[in-house]
Amino acid sequence: MKEKVLVIEDNDQNLYLVTFLLEEVGFNVIAARNGQDGIEMACRENPALILLDIQLPMMNGYEVAYQLRQKDSAKHIPIVAVTSYAMVGDREKALQAGCTGYMEKPINADTFIDEIKQYILPEGQSAAHQI
Ligand code: MN
Repeated sequence: MKEKVLVIEDNDQNLYLVTFLLEEVGFNVIAARNGQDGIEMACRENPALILLDIQLPMMNGYEVAYQLRQKDSAKHIPIVAVTSYAMVGDREKALQAGCTGYMEKPINADTFIDEIKQYILPEGQSAAHQI
């Protein structure tokens, strides 16, 4: 079965690139354009990984991560924050909000897949055991 990755991203170009790279190696990509849709989709679809843009309309990525960690149906899912802020403290802020990992934009197409694969857990294993 194809592993499902949820991408929460409001920027068309970034979403296109990430989707292309993921589908190229066989992932099934589902996408949400804002945090609220992303949270609902995560709870409903139980993806193997969530790629979470931090700069989102209405609700930012930190808030999305925090809310996902309160949901029984989503709190086990690894979340990788993707941010272009690249400021000191962002990484810590993302991890504090409940993210599993952190990645800076622009996405490096050569290393992206290897980077995200390290966050995908073997089936049946909970992220909570790793944190
Ligand atoms: Mn954005």
